[in-house]
Amino acid sequence: MIRLENIHKYFDQQHVLKGINLSVNKGEVVSILGPSGSGKSTLLRCINFLEHPTSGIVEINGKRIDIESASKADILSLRTSTGMVFQQYNLFKNLTVLQNVMIGLTSVKQMNPVDAKNVSIDILEKVGLKERLSHYPVQLSGGQQQRVGIARALALNPEVLLFDEPTSSLDPELVDEVLTVIKNVANEGNTMLIVTHELNFAREISDRIVFMENGIIVEEGTAEQIFNNPSVERTKQFISKAI
Ligand code: ATP
Ligand code: MG
Repeated sequence: MIRLENIHKYFDQQHVLKGINLSVNKGEVVSILGPSGSGKSTLLRCINFLEHPTSGIVEINGKRIDIESASKADILSLRTSTGMVFQQYNLFKNLTVLQNVMIGLTSVKQMNPVDAKNVSIDILEKVGLKERLSHYPVQLSGGQQQRVGIARALALNPEVLLFDEPTSSLDPELVDEVLTVIKNVANEGNTMLIVTHELNFAREISDRIVFMENGIIVEEGTAEQIFNNPSVERTKQFISKAI
């Protein structure tokens, strides 16, 4: 499980995260909704230290790390406990599909190449890419590239998978194939935190939904509560505008 306590993030004078408290239990799928600029991406990036939070506590699987006194080893352990899927895929262009998935296993996890290859092929099969192992990213559709991105994150078997708008760069006709893969990943019991603008998807997949605005969690609840009976006016407006 993952727990954030009183996370603050400043970019210079700009106070972007204003005391975020959030827990995601093992096997839980939590979606973060909210308007542009509310701090959703910054929050995800603070969990794996792609951005260094200004203060607060991050706890993953019982290991509590106080940001202000975090050691390099603490930060590395947070990084290796999380897997991130980016809006822009972020694949290595000069590596094949198989190599893109293997590289985390051989470099970060120090797995031997034979095992890494077998694990990677299994996972690529799961995301429907077994026929594309030797292709380079440029030879793939956006949906296929994003499925490689998901396979790469899954291969590391992280405590929590972080998705930052995984379908926002895709042509509309490619969105469904990626959402289907993410649903399958969720149904396998993975712990997931997803930033998305796909409200129907969030509603269907999430155990819990968090609505953020202006660096604050305004409201959180089950999909049923947030969509059918939001208690905060701002959430109501956002949901009604988006549907
Ligand atoms: P969107 O839905 O558009 O992706 P978001 O909720 O993900 O928005 P963030 O990207 O987290 O929003 O940005 C929150 C605020 O922090 C914005 O005002 C943004 O300009 C600012 N910000 C984000 N990253 C940086 C950075 N690296 N340096 C300075 N300011 C930043
Ligand atoms: Mg964002």
